[in-house]
Formats: sequence, C-alpha cells, structure tokens
Amino acid sequence: MTAVNLLDFDLDALAAYCEQLGEKRFRATQLFRWIHQKGARDFAQMSDLAKSLRDKLASRAEIRPLPVISEHVSADGTIKWLFDVGGGNAVESVFIPEDDRGTLCVSSQAGCAVGCRFCSTGHQGFSRNLSTGEIVAQLWFAEHALRARFKTAERVISNVVMMGMGEPLQNYAALVPALRTMLDDHGYGLSRRRVTVSTSGVVPMIDRLRKDCPVALAVSLHAPTDPLRDELVPINRKYPIKELLEACQRYLEAAPRDFITFEYCMLDGVNDSDAQARELLALVGERGPAGRVPCKFNLIPFNPFPASGLKRSGAARVQAFAQVLIDGGLVTTVRKTRGDDIDAACGQLAGEVQDRTNAATRMAGARQRAKMVPIAVQAPGGSDIHNEGTSR
Ligand code: SAH
Ligand code: SF4
Repeated sequence: MTAVNLLDFDLDALAAYCEQLGEKRFRATQLFRWIHQKGARDFAQMSDLAKSLRDKLASRAEIRPLPVISEHVSADGTIKWLFDVGGGNAVESVFIPEDDRGTLCVSSQAGCAVGCRFCSTGHQGFSRNLSTGEIVAQLWFAEHALRARFKTAERVISNVVMMGMGEPLQNYAALVPALRTMLDDHGYGLSRRRVTVSTSGVVPMIDRLRKDCPVALAVSLHAPTDPLRDELVPINRKYPIKELLEACQRYLEAAPRDFITFEYCMLDGVNDSDAQARELLALVGERGPAGRVPCKFNLIPFNPFPASGLKRSGAARVQAFAQVLIDGGLVTTVRKTRGDDIDAACGQLAGEVQDRTNAATRMAGARQRAKMVPIAVQAPGGSDIHNEGTSR
C-alpha cells in the first residue's frame, strides 16, 4: 500500500482525512501548520500531536518531496531547481528575489499540450499533469530551503506565479487545492493578489476559477488578431480573442485585482510593429469586441531556442511598441530578463528536451552503478549548488 501524500490535501481535505482517522479538525490544522509553515517531514517531530496520532500517520501517510535533480544559482540571485517527476520527466521552479518581494515561478504540468510556437515547453509536447502534491511540493521545498539558506525563520516567498511549465488551467482539478494551500492562513498565507495564474486562454476554466478560487489572472495574449494568434497560440482556434476578452471581463467581477495582466512575447517581425500595438489598443478599448477591458501589458522579450525559428525583437523596437501602448493610456511594463545565465527565463524552463533526457539517463546510470537511491533532498536544507554560468 502506498502511503498517502499529505501534500495532496488542502486544509479541508486534510480535515476530512483526519476525521477518517477519528481526529478533530483542529488536529488537522496543527498538522497542516507543521507541514507548510514549519516544513516538517517527520511526524515524530510534531510535538503537540498525540503520540498515538503520530504513530497512525507514520504508518500510512507521508510528506513526499520531489527529488531535486539540480540547483542553479544565477549571478543576479535567481535560483532554479529541476525536480524529477518520474518517467524521465522533469519540471522546474524558479525563485526570483527582488527588493520588496520574493517570487516563485511554479510548474503545473510536465510538458504542455497547447503547443505555442515560441515556447520550448510547448515544443516538447505533453507528458502528464502534476498532482496537487507535486505542485505544492515545489513551494514547500523552495520556501524551507530558502529559509535555511538565508538563515531566517521569516517567510521568504511572498508571491507565486503559475508561469513555469504547463498550462495550469488544463490541470484544473489539481491546481485549485494547490492554490488553496498557498492562500490558507495555516498554510503559506499568501494574499490572493500575490498568487497569479497565467493562462493561454482556456475560457471555460477562467470562468470556473472565478467561482472556485479567484486569484490574480495573467493572460498570454501575444497577438492582436485571431489569424496571428491562431498561429502562435493554437488554443485560440478553440477560444478566439473575443471570447477570451469576454471571459476576462467576467473574471474581473470577482478578481482580487481590478485589472487583467496581458502577457505579450515580443517576436521580431511577427507581432511587434507599431500598427500591431495600435490594434491592441483598439482591442481592449471601448470599441473593442468586448468593450473596454481594464488591463496592464507586460511585454516579454522572446527567449530564443533553436527549434523555434523565431527571433527576439530588438530593445528599441520593444521600447517603441511599449510607447504606443503607454501613449494610448495603458500601463505597460517590459519584463526584465532574470536568471539569463542559468536558462531560467520564461519559456526556457527545463532547457532542451534532449538535455533533460540525457540528465535522466545519466541519473539512472549513476544510480545503477553506485546502487544509489534516488537523490531525495530534504527540506529544509539544500543540495549542492552548481553555479554554472552558462554563456549563451
Ligand atoms: N501556460 C501558461 C503559463 C506558463 S508560460 C501560459 O502560457 O500563460 C508563462 C509565460 O511565458 C507565458 O506568458 C508564455 O507566453 C511566456 N513564454 C513562453 N515561452 C516564452 C519564450 N520563449 N520567451 C518569452 N516568453 C515565453
Ligand atoms: Fe503551454 Fe504556456 Fe508554453 Fe503555451 S506558453 S506551450 S500554454 S506553457
């Protein structure tokens, strides 16, 4: 019998589980705090739980971390972890420190089925959905490893963005309990405004998220017209721009922020002309297909990878494009590229497929040769740091 992974449960689910064991809800709350606030893995350490409960838990449950394959630290402080999710698949999480916040970029799937032209995850195809426990394990590990590294008992991660590998709204059932654990005061206590789901535009799931767990929403727009968006973000053929913008309008009724963030990846000669910037203004303005959509634009310089055949827009072009949007009254930012030296930038997660396959093969080989168990790194605490400043 495989042990139950307690990272799969939000607080309500943990309470239901504890009830099955004959325990009251407040015990579940205590247990939840041990797991998420203190980063505990060992039931023996949970001193305020009765010994009988600790024994019961130890015999049937566990707090299951994701094995860490590697950890890379960028010169700018960005940290990228590669986690083994089995079957030769790996996912990544990236910590981005800033003066006033610490952001963790979290993955929701191994691979992605949407297949956007400019995204290396999309080129990889879809392997599988992550479980709630695997989504939460990324935050659980990162938060407690960072506290140990920075020698602090204070919270390090203040923001989570679901912008790693995968389309979070195509893994909805696992996503929602993970979001609830992030938001729970007994869990990570993150504000709804500081947890962002980024989506390529799965319209029906935007509506469900609004009802089930409204958090900040980022929508990957990337094109002002349907024909171009059909090419770049194939899910547009199913949910075209007008429907997407209408879903954004509805979402705003429940959203913790009064705007939608539109992400826009700047591709040289493809979607970066002044004329296209003006089309965007028209699209989200009063006379647009869904009326005025309160929004901000976040321009992302494309992070190239060989198979894409696409090029990054020049810095001057990005600035000029941003200026058209700003002059049209839209708050527009250009995303700073972080962790460039460790391939931690958007759309580069998990590097090249080949690399990962090799990494998995090497790992399996090394394990066999040395008869080693998988490298399970316990949080708090970290694996060795490989500060490989790859030059690209
Ligand atoms: N699947 C979700 C979330 C993960 S991708 C989504 O598409 O929104 C997070 C962001 O990175 C998206 O806005 C995506 O369009 C962008 N992105 C993907 N590949 C990129 C690349 N090569 N360069 C720059 N941004 C990229
Ligand atoms: Fe999937 Fe997002 Fe990449 Fe598109 S950009 S392929 S939706 S991860």
